[in-house]
Amino acid sequence: MKTRSEPPAAQLWQGGWYRFARHLASPNFGPRPAGTSVDLIVIHSISLPPGRYGGEEVQQLFTNTLDWDAHPYFKSIEGLSVSAHFYIRRGGELWQFVSCEDRAWHAGPSTYRGRADCNDDSIGIELEGLEGETFEPPQYEALAALCAAIAQRYPVQHIAGHEHVAPGRKRDPGAGFDWAALQRSLGWRREIFPVQP
Ligand SMILES: [Zn+2]
Repeated sequence: MKTRSEPPAAQLWQGGWYRFARHLASPNFGPRPAGTSVDLIVIHSISLPPGRYGGEEVQQLFTNTLDWDAHPYFKSIEGLSVSAHFYIRRGGELWQFVSCEDRAWHAGPSTYRGRADCNDDSIGIELEGLEGETFEPPQYEALAALCAAIAQRYPVQHIAGHEHVAPGRKRDPGAGFDWAALQRSLGWRREIFPVQP
């Protein structure tokens, strides 16, 4: 009987792009500092306008093509240049905007595990959702598979929410995100995950 095994990282990644994601290149990125060890995954939630799912607005925001006049909320973020490496839709569909070799613009002013500016050495994953609300089972499945693939390629030592790397300023993914479920499906040790209240 043949044993099932994980595909090697070389088959999963090409220049920091994950094979099983839809690729849509964002111009919003830069180089990571020389010698960076990417050891942190930052989990976010996003929807545009907040709480409305299924549209193309997040992809548009990350590629600087969002029509700021299309909704009153967009006026409040007009001109924002941001990105994340990944975006997981409610049904589990996975998008990638920035190579993991590069520095995406998702965390903003932030500090975690004693280091500031988490964009330098983290990978940002956005879940389509709203802080405080729950997330869908296909999103957890896609997220766990993605985190496992990232850990095959990068020396991941920490996973945290945006709320943990920018406390007081950010609240995503919020209380509706089930950290214990993610930990169970990944089987990673407790210390990798944020301390829960
Ligand atoms: Zn965020």
